[in-house]
Amino acid sequence: MDCIFCKIIKGEVPSYTIYEDELVKAFLDVNPDVNGHILIVPKKHYQDLFDIDENVLIHIMKCAKDLDKLLKEKLHTDGLTLVQNNGLKQEVKHFHLHLKPQYKIEGEKMSVEEVYNILK
Ligand code: AMP
Ligand code: ZN
Repeated sequence: MDCIFCKIIKGEVPSYTIYEDELVKAFLDVNPDVNGHILIVPKKHYQDLFDIDENVLIHIMKCAKDLDKLLKEKLHTDGLTLVQNNGLKQEVKHFHLHLKPQYKIEGEKMSVEEVYNILK
């Protein structure tokens, strides 16, 4: 199967990984909407919300809470928007949760590498 996120998980495609454990990998979105835009991706290939194991889903939400602490501490974020597309608007057909930080005052857009160097 030709899945870009499976390739990232296997290490065949590089990523700016912020967090990893036995169930998930969290890395920076290559085309961020905002500084600190992270994707949490299960290591096992599940297509979408209707396919994913519920225990993995709970784990992903716990990771989102932990990563929010990191975003607050390192990027001084003021809130967090979660987005998870299924079907028509889902570009990559491997489940992923978008973490999009909110800012009272949105500064200059940084490169993904610059953000990685702050968060790593
Ligand atoms: P969605 O529309 O919810 O499927 O979003 C897919 C997201 O994956 C987009 O925001 C893309 O910028 C992001 N994306 C695609 N390829 C990569 C990649 N190789 N590394 C990091 N993010 C990616
Ligand atoms: Zn996959």
